[in-house]
Amino acid sequence: MFVDKVRITVVGGRGGDGAVAFHREKYVASGGPDGGDGGHGGSVVLHVNDNMSTLLDFRYKRKYAAQAGANGLGRKMSGKRGEPLVIDVPRGTVVRDAETNQIIVDMSTGEDFVIAKGGRGGWGNAHFATATRQVPRFAKAGLKGQERDIILELKLLADVGLVGFPNVGKSTLLSVTSNARPKIANYHFTTLFPNLGVIYVDEGVSFVMADIPGIIEGAAEGAGLGHDFLRHIDRCRLLVHVVDVSGSEGRDPVDDFNAICDELASYSVDLSNRPMIVAANKIDLLPPGSDNLARLRSCVEATGCELYEISAGTTQGTRNLMRVVAEKLRSLPPVTIYEPEYVEQVPQAGDPSELTIEHLGSTWVITGSWLERLVMNINFDDYESRNYFDLQLHKSGLFARLEEMGIQDGDTVDIYDLQFDYQR
Ligand code: GDP
Ligand code: MG
Repeated sequence: MFVDKVRITVVGGRGGDGAVAFHREKYVASGGPDGGDGGHGGSVVLHVNDNMSTLLDFRYKRKYAAQAGANGLGRKMSGKRGEPLVIDVPRGTVVRDAETNQIIVDMSTGEDFVIAKGGRGGWGNAHFATATRQVPRFAKAGLKGQERDIILELKLLADVGLVGFPNVGKSTLLSVTSNARPKIANYHFTTLFPNLGVIYVDEGVSFVMADIPGIIEGAAEGAGLGHDFLRHIDRCRLLVHVVDVSGSEGRDPVDDFNAICDELASYSVDLSNRPMIVAANKIDLLPPGSDNLARLRSCVEATGCELYEISAGTTQGTRNLMRVVAEKLRSLPPVTIYEPEYVEQVPQAGDPSELTIEHLGSTWVITGSWLERLVMNINFDDYESRNYFDLQLHKSGLFARLEEMGIQDGDTVDIYDLQFDYQR
């Protein structure tokens, strides 16, 4: 099974809560606040692993969460940071936001990428000692880590993509020209993993060629495996179209050539305009007196492509073909690296005056980014933190507005995860 597209959820670790603690020493009646900060939550980090060539590992595990930060401790001791979670991906994995489908990052350069940030640790009460508030009994809760659904899509980084019907000799060509050892067998769909090979043409001249599973007719309409695999050659700079010119499987090489060209065209215009070289393979099997080669040549040349005769089986012409490919690549633009399209939505601090009040029966639903952030920051298990919250709400003018709108004692106030009865 070859997996080249998956949807996963990544979650940064929650930040640890800040501590409420007081300095204690013998003979010292009451020490100052010394609660330490919570540790920051670990982030989820994407990392390129060149030993991976598929996204298979993601098939059974869908959620990836980094470790939470530890809570703060007394004596101003900060909680331990959460460990980051490193996710290995194959080079060439394009990461999209699952909701908008926008590209977040193209994991092609080999740089690590933080895909979900850990939450900040909350401040311990040591932070809240002020002249007027000498004995702060509240600390801030840690913030939640970033959570997002992403799509990983593998788009191989290869200069050259081999295309053609199954069994025409693509894997054989790759194996005789490169260090790759793809599976070669005389049945269709032998290639279920893309194989990458490095081809050394001359000193300092090399390129990467990818053998992808055979394209079959109707593949671009989703009829077979092919459609999925076409995305692998999306960013190849050049296509080598391998045709079995001997017709050893009973098909006509001209029909094969046209069928594959049609498949490419129905997948994308872009792909059908990609520079292409045709390799007329299995010339060793060409029946005497056959006009296959001549017919294929005139058909190929009519489309503006060059044709080279080879026998991958006997390696006849393969070295020459690789030289031609290397030469052609010199004039072509480098492999496409996708630009990020995704713009991070930074939650705005907002303004307390921008609160929205909805009145539904006896329930008052309050929303607003300022409030959302405030709620996220309060540790509601703690009495003084709740008092602090209450004070902030008063200051925001929310209660005055509710009174003006006619709120009654005993009505319910609904603030994000929080509900309470209103008391004047
Ligand atoms: P792919 O499906 O396009 O990757 O094709 P393979 O490379 O797996 O080859 C399919 C079959 O064709 C294998 O049995 C190969 O040995 C055979 N084959 C490939 N190239 C040649 C060739 O140039 N001459 C001959 N006689 N057989 C070949
Ligand atoms: Mg193959």
